[in-house]
Amino acid sequence: MLKKYFVPTILMAALAIAFSGCGSKDKGLESALESISAEELAKNVEIISSDEFEGRAPASKGEEKTVKFLKEEFQKLGLKPANGESYFQEVPLVEITGDPNIKLKITGGKKVHSFSCGDEFVGVTQRVVEEVAVSDSEMVFLGYGIVAPEYNWNDYDGINVRGKTVVVLVNDPGFATENPELFNGRAMTYYGRWTYKYEEAARQGAAGIFIIHETEPAAYGWGVVKKGWTGPQFNLVSEDNNLSRCAVEGWVQLDVADKIFKESGKNLDELKSAATKQGFKAVPLGLKASVSLKNSIRYSKSRNVIALLPGSKRADEYIIYTAHWDHFGIDPTLEGDQIFNGALDNATGTCALIELAEAFTKLKSPPLRSILFMAVTAEEQGLLGSLYYATHPVYPTNKTVAVINMDALNIYGKMKDITIIGYGNSELDDYVEAAAREQGRRVRPDPKPERGSFYRSDHFSFAKQGVPALYTSSGIDHVEYGEEWTRQKRDKYIAENYHKPSDEYDPNWDLSGTIDDLRLLFKVAYRLGNESTFPNWKEGTEFKAKRDADMKSARKQL
Ligand SMILES: [Zn+2]
Repeated sequence: MLKKYFVPTILMAALAIAFSGCGSKDKGLESALESISAEELAKNVEIISSDEFEGRAPASKGEEKTVKFLKEEFQKLGLKPANGESYFQEVPLVEITGDPNIKLKITGGKKVHSFSCGDEFVGVTQRVVEEVAVSDSEMVFLGYGIVAPEYNWNDYDGINVRGKTVVVLVNDPGFATENPELFNGRAMTYYGRWTYKYEEAARQGAAGIFIIHETEPAAYGWGVVKKGWTGPQFNLVSEDNNLSRCAVEGWVQLDVADKIFKESGKNLDELKSAATKQGFKAVPLGLKASVSLKNSIRYSKSRNVIALLPGSKRADEYIIYTAHWDHFGIDPTLEGDQIFNGALDNATGTCALIELAEAFTKLKSPPLRSILFMAVTAEEQGLLGSLYYATHPVYPTNKTVAVINMDALNIYGKMKDITIIGYGNSELDDYVEAAAREQGRRVRPDPKPERGSFYRSDHFSFAKQGVPALYTSSGIDHVEYGEEWTRQKRDKYIAENYHKPSDEYDPNWDLSGTIDDLRLLFKVAYRLGNESTFPNWKEGTEFKAKRDADMKSARKQL
């Protein structure tokens, strides 16, 4: 009897010692969490979103200031350069600037139409050439322009579009019909994104592609399209100079599309609804499109900034925090304010990297695995910096446990919830759930999955390579004001400030909710950093097969 009790007593004593050891570790954890502060975050956001940083365009004076600032902050914290001796990874970019005075000419109807660039249509080329044109190219309406075998959908079925100009709708049929059986219902799939539509049209050999802009399914107004597709267009330098892309990629304004369809004797609304039905067949418009582009080409180099906190035991396994440092720079053609300060988007996420890095240095000892803090470039130009890293990784993707991305943080105060964009995609959700519970908060799926946000920030570049990626967004259930209030605030930001010079730092921001979010994201990486498992994508996601193959090749290397 005595013996029986004696052993547990020793065990209890041992446990008590273990817990007190744990306790001192917890103190490190506590001071780590406490070091994440709204004042410091705000101070840094104010610095890099000031006019002095010139809107942080890639390969600009603003870049110089931004990457220098980040490097110095990481250095001060004692983090190591993550790319050999350097805190930078060079990203070779090509910048193509088209002549803005181009016209889209439509012939073949009773009337010749000539639409002007900017307000009526936008057209650019990814081909690295000085001149490129589409002339008298037959126009075809291709519905959503989607080939998706898993949804048994092929808008290109039975038509050869080689040399033709295709006109397509934005988003996917699931969004338009709200039919949960079609694609992913209202939630946008990658097939709904303009990037996909351009890629598919190129695979099909089309000469040109125009997407019909509609604000709701695009999730942004014409202003965003106009700004995004005029002025310099950045791309990664590719071996074929992007000659496999369509000659012209663009958008047309909805009114312009209406005019074009009327000229062809077709009813756009009727065709739109036909395009949502399985078995839709492409409709030749009987019109011809001509547009010629004159480009000036500039090669440049931009930089991802990467700092390393080496792990204490399994240092060759990595957890990466990402946030894009870039924004749109300066637009000299604007009247009034010309600087795109990008305070919310994404000085907040960029400076959050510094707060998180600082927190990790406050631990008694670093996590077992290494943590990388990565400020990537050229996100606004199509996720280019993260795409470059994910396809030219400094550390192997199959040794990269997870990516945690931050883009445009919460400025409205404390929330009862936290949103996971792409909820249900990966086992990383469980880590967020656990950390949220500790804060007395709950996790909610993306309230606006139709915006396709999962495909619109840097974690997606990693997901495409199979690396499990987490992207959270502040919740919407405000502790004091509830959900409707937050929705209105967010919608107002999208309408008035998103990708506009007015996205500026405001001392009235309430960053208390963001501090909660950052502490939560700290805990996610902290836990991942001390585990030996590799959380995976869930069955049925488009990224799991890639990850499984990558991990298998890692095992073979051993
Ligand atoms: Zn952003």
